Amino acid sequence: MKVAVFPGSFDPITLGHLDIVSRAIPLFDKIIIAVGRNANKKYMFSEEQRVEWIKETFKEEAKISVDRYSGLTTRYCTEVGAQFILRGLRNPADFEFEKAIAQTNRKLKTDLETVFLLTSSGLSSISSSIVRDVIRNEGEYQQFVPAAVRIN
Ligand code: ADP
Repeated sequence: MKVAVFPGSFDPITLGHLDIVSRAIPLFDKIIIAVGRNANKKYMFSEEQRVEWIKETFKEEAKISVDRYSGLTTRYCTEVGAQFILRGLRNPADFEFEKAIAQTNRKLKTDLETVFLLTSSGLSSISSSIVRDVIRNEGEYQQFVPAAVRIN
């Protein structure tokens, strides 16, 4: 069984994330969207809220499950029996950052492959940090996020 982990902050989940996961569904038997806990990061939304929005977004998808983890992503992949890490690439900055992480991860766990999907055109400008800015400034964030993400 081909199992992939899609790790991230998802603060909040965006149409960019949704696009990557949707396009990865035919490639894997199971995709675990894993919300990582990083003690050095300040999040806008609680872990519970972020997980709930992701669950709601993919509730019709049998291949998708949602989890949370802390510590090394490679260790988490071993725990859940994943052979693949899924990541999205938007631009050269993503590439440089992701290359270093993927190469390090492969040193930590040699049988783990990182699979990259290129962002769909039109979605490359969407990032959780920009969406958070739009939300903070009471802009129309709905156009950048799945319908499940609703802020009162
Ligand atoms: P992290 O804090 O690990 O970067 P994010 O939630 O910001 O977590 O991103 C998780 C993954 O989704 C990363 O691989 C990121 O490159 C990818 N991603 C985010 N936005 C987009 C987008 N608009 N198009 C393609 N991939 C994206």
